[in-house]
Amino acid sequence: MGWDFETDAEFQKQLDWIDEFVQAEIEPLQFVLGSPYDLEDPNRERLIRPLQKEVQVRNLWACHLGPELGGQGYGQLKLALMNEILGRAPHAPTVFGCQAPDSGNGEILAHYGTPAQKAEYLEPLLKNEVVSAYSMTEPQGGADPKVFTCRAELVGDEWVINGEKWFSSNARYASFLILMAVTDLEAPPYQRMSMFIVPRSTPGVEILRNVGVGLEDKEGSHGYVRYTDVRIPKDHLLGEVGQGFVVAQTRLGGGRIHHAMRTVGKVRHAFDQMCERVLSRETQGEVLAQKQMVQEKIADSWLQIEQFRLLVLRTAWRIDRYKDYRRVRKDIAAVKALMPTVYHDVYSRALQLHGSLGASNEMPFANGVIDSFHMALADGPTEVHKVTVARQVLGEYRGTDDLFPTTHLPKLRAAAIKKYADVIERQVAVQ
Ligand SMILES: Cc1cc2nc3c(=O)[nH]c(=O)nc-3n(C[C@H](O)[C@H](O)[C@H](O)COP(=O)(O)OP(=O)(O)OC[C@H]3O[C@@H](n4cnc5c(N)ncnc54)[C@H](O)[C@@H]3O)c2cc1C
Repeated sequence: MGWDFETDAEFQKQLDWIDEFVQAEIEPLQFVLGSPYDLEDPNRERLIRPLQKEVQVRNLWACHLGPELGGQGYGQLKLALMNEILGRAPHAPTVFGCQAPDSGNGEILAHYGTPAQKAEYLEPLLKNEVVSAYSMTEPQGGADPKVFTCRAELVGDEWVINGEKWFSSNARYASFLILMAVTDLEAPPYQRMSMFIVPRSTPGVEILRNVGVGLEDKEGSHGYVRYTDVRIPKDHLLGEVGQGFVVAQTRLGGGRIHHAMRTVGKVRHAFDQMCERVLSRETQGEVLAQKQMVQEKIADSWLQIEQFRLLVLRTAWRIDRYKDYRRVRKDIAAVKALMPTVYHDVYSRALQLHGSLGASNEMPFANGVIDSFHMALADGPTEVHKVTVARQVLGEYRGTDDLFPTTHLPKLRAAAIKKYADVIERQVAVQ
């Protein structure tokens, strides 16, 4: 029997340490630091670097990577258990060296970079000496990459890039961007594009705006980036010409499941807050927890979280087991499609049960509700992932040529009577 829902004792010790460390040392950082990606912030350097060293000493740095890249080769299941703790604190992934989009960009560079590129871009990225951005979505469309127009043309020994990209997160802090651009207008849609490394200091890379999300009232961190005659060396192409989508898949599979793992941590955190509140706040002579409609919210939240967590862990287990993202495409798409609903529902209920305090900016719930849309959009909208789930599931079935379904009861009954005709006659005879 291979089913097991227990964590081995040795690894549990690591998780216990991570849990305490995140609570004591990392959760408070969100109140004193700005973006975890802002390497120019001296306070960030003073506070985050020593914590990163502590994580390295405990061999917990960049656990999403294999040993050849300085990680532990933990695999996705252990990573899931770790990430659900890290999800609680916005600065935790950076302290543990597994923050998106650098983690995914690192995977691309590890797969497709030349030795020189690995030395120049990957090594400092893995050490968090630099940060990066992923520049794929365009202002006229993100869900359908076939509408992309940003062009890269080979002129002599250089690629010349022209076009605009939208929502390139952290572009303002990045020292390079991984960019997807059209290289062959005539090719079939999914062979039209290629992937490139673009150093941000290259002339012609211009951030038009740093767009914010939801309730943010200051400058945001999602770059609206214009590329005008940007010239990069020929070897800054990643993979082959026309392989942009194949290269993108290298990062998206892992990226989606890692977001889901951290989302488990976020929703559990909101759930803990919700439970504390309903056991503390009284109305009409009793605590909220005694009202049935409140109990329903607690039960619904717990059910959603546990179902989601099990799906995430099972998907992580399948990734480790099959080591082939194509074989777990349905599972990853399912996790991605479910994540925003669970996130949104749990944070909405937590907001509601905290009343006016919940709606205020003195609690994190309104931001969580907005952030659930981040999870519903980044790395592709929910609808597209549901289509993938449905297609993959339907691929496991066949239709019937019969007018009535194969499970039509009269048909099954007739078959059963035929199968047991002898026995039934004898039984009748005995009676
Ligand atoms: C917080 C955040 C961070 C992001 N970071 C990055 C980043 O770093 N780099 C990057 O390149 N992009 C990033 N994105 C962009 C993200 O990938 C896109 O938002 C996403 O792909 C959707 O594209 P769009 O916003 O243009 O929406 P559209 O393509 O205009 O789609 C709008 C809506 O139409 C519906 N829809 C679309 N297609 C279908 C379909 N096939 N069937 C049914 N309904 C459909 C969905 O409801 C969808 O949300 C980020 C987005 C957010 C919100």
